[in-house]
Amino acid sequence: IKVKDAFFVKSASKMEETTPEGMSEVAFIGRSNVGKSSIINALTNKKGLAKSSSTPGKTRLINFFQIVLAKDEKTYHMQLVDLPGFGYARVSHSLKEEWQKNLTTYIQKRVSIRTFVHLIDSRHPFLEIDQAVHTYLQEIVRADQHILRIFTKLDKLKQSEISVIKKNYPCALLVSSSSKKGIDKALEAIFETLFG
Ligand code: GDP
Repeated sequence: IKVKDAFFVKSASKMEETTPEGMSEVAFIGRSNVGKSSIINALTNKKGLAKSSSTPGKTRLINFFQIVLAKDEKTYHMQLVDLPGFGYARVSHSLKEEWQKNLTTYIQKRVSIRTFVHLIDSRHPFLEIDQAVHTYLQEIVRADQHILRIFTKLDKLKQSEISVIKKNYPCALLVSSSSKKGIDKALEAIFETLFG
């Protein structure tokens, strides 16, 4: 699979501001600082596409990116959706609730979402919040949708720690956006859920 083009489409803070339904979407979800921006940049091979921020909880908007892929001389279009990270958000309680509501609405009502990519920091593979997110996604997922669990920051792990993750999550994908290890495989897995 080759990424032929990748570009930012828009940011939305409300449902009314989201792009029209239609193109197949991959929604990225995970804790703040999990490496969401970094993996979007690595998958698209475009540094700076998703603004990587070292301030936890800063990404407050739903960001849309359009990706053009080529495989076996065919062209495919998909939209990557960068959802606000959960945890840490340094905002007022009411604002937090407002986002939560928007996010929940988006996740549950958006027809175009074909795949949820749940990102987990591989250094903390068993956090309660991630178990809760996985359970939630399993509950709301429709028959035409997939959930992929991707463990980030693989380069930070020892071989023994990698083995523990593989044993506990046999289907897990492990990636490092820094070294690019596992990135091609993750892109293929995403592609398969949409067009396979
Ligand atoms: P986001 O808040 O989920 O969008 O996370 P970012 O992509 O901004 O990454 C958060 C921090 O983790 C940044 O300091 C990144 O440089 C770092 N990071 C992201 N991916 C990797 C990775 O694969 N390996 C390492 N070592 N650090 C990473």
